[in-house]
Amino acid sequence: MNQDATAGNIPRYYQSLDFEALWRDYPPAPDYFEGTYRMSRDALRAMQEQRLLRQMERAWQIPFYRRHWSARGMQPGDIRGLDDLAKIPPFSVHDLRDSVTSNPPWVDYIGIDPAEHAPLPLILQTSGGTTGLPRPMIFSPRDREVMNIVTGRRLYMQGVRPFDLVQVALSMGLTNGGVLAREGIWKYTGAVPVMTGSGAQTPTRRQIELLQAWKAKFLIGFPAYLRHMGLVAREELKIDPRELPVKGLIVHLGVDDRASLEELWGADAYDTYGCNECGTMAAECSHKRGMHVFEDAFVLEVNDPDTLQPKQAGERGVVFITTLFKYAAPMIRYNMNDVTSFAAGECACGSTHPRITKIYGRSDNMVKLRGVNVFPEAIGAIVSEDRRLNGEYVCVLEGADSGNETMTVLVETLDQSVPSDMLAAELADRLKEALGVRLRVETVARGGLDHLTGLSATSKIKRLIDKRRLPSG
Ligand SMILES: [Zn+2]
Repeated sequence: MNQDATAGNIPRYYQSLDFEALWRDYPPAPDYFEGTYRMSRDALRAMQEQRLLRQMERAWQIPFYRRHWSARGMQPGDIRGLDDLAKIPPFSVHDLRDSVTSNPPWVDYIGIDPAEHAPLPLILQTSGGTTGLPRPMIFSPRDREVMNIVTGRRLYMQGVRPFDLVQVALSMGLTNGGVLAREGIWKYTGAVPVMTGSGAQTPTRRQIELLQAWKAKFLIGFPAYLRHMGLVAREELKIDPRELPVKGLIVHLGVDDRASLEELWGADAYDTYGCNECGTMAAECSHKRGMHVFEDAFVLEVNDPDTLQPKQAGERGVVFITTLFKYAAPMIRYNMNDVTSFAAGECACGSTHPRITKIYGRSDNMVKLRGVNVFPEAIGAIVSEDRRLNGEYVCVLEGADSGNETMTVLVETLDQSVPSDMLAAELADRLKEALGVRLRVETVARGGLDHLTGLSATSKIKRLIDKRRLPSG
């Protein structure tokens, strides 16, 4: 038992950090946009380098990295600057899952041991955890504040201002998304978070009533859910979402169809990229020309998944993320398995920070069908373009006796006047044209996929059902 904790030495959040120093290092909005956002590339690189070396020092104190790196022949001091970054062996979520521990949730990538260390005010959030127990992540006050500052910056970039109401349709539970949005809005934007949560926490109709009554200007949620919400307003409540005061939809857009979502709501949709472990890593500015990486807090690489060599602008690869600020569980060359590319050229906003185009999908979600790589997300993009459908979809992958695998795309129809077999045939043709492989398409009525996707109940929506992995019999 930790003596400090029992002796009444309870850590106080506001004494656990030098806030003024933190804000000089990681300026919140609007200061950030006058300084770091426009800093010269050389100055930014020098800042990143200094922060990387400190992050490496911290990482060597953490059992996970000592084990992972030592096993691959790396020694403290090997990394002298950003040029050496590529020498650091990357790791993936599988390594985190395998992280050894005798005392969960104090897993060995976190680097805090309650039996040894002085108490700190900590927060625990987890991964989505579709199978087994979710992966724990613990944040120190500094970790959390930097993530809050970055959240505040991206919302400011996307137009959020003091006294605006921001309705957050992300669940407030174990995963970080909703909780972090609330902290960032509350502490660093002056706006007011309205935490409606997922459809299971506040039914969709009630979400719309609140939106209408309290006039939230911004909606945060998954694009599929915001599309669902807009359609429920229009089709069931006979409220035109374009008449509501929403002017910004803040989403992880991915390959979802921006135009149809914007048209449905009469609002701008802004893409954002983040994860449970690190919070927001990149976000679009008001020009919507790709997501600027918050380079004072992260080094983001786009690498070839096989050779690990960096990709040129416009070439797709997987994201490796390196945090520059974390105390608990720094992430150093964490292979996110998300496929993206750097955007070419400069953004009209004048930022010197590079942009990533969009997240095309997860490389571990990719399915190889008759020699063609297929991302469920890319199928979703095509489904969401078809105005006769509501954008909902599930891909079901099955193994046939002949050894051939088939994928069936289930979609929900909005327009009952079109015969469903005709609609299915047309969509199958369109998918073949876009993806280069023929898929089966089946249509169901609106809401018919809810039990498969979990759309109304959770914010982690299921798009791929892999029946190949089920045990037979
Ligand atoms: Zn920009």
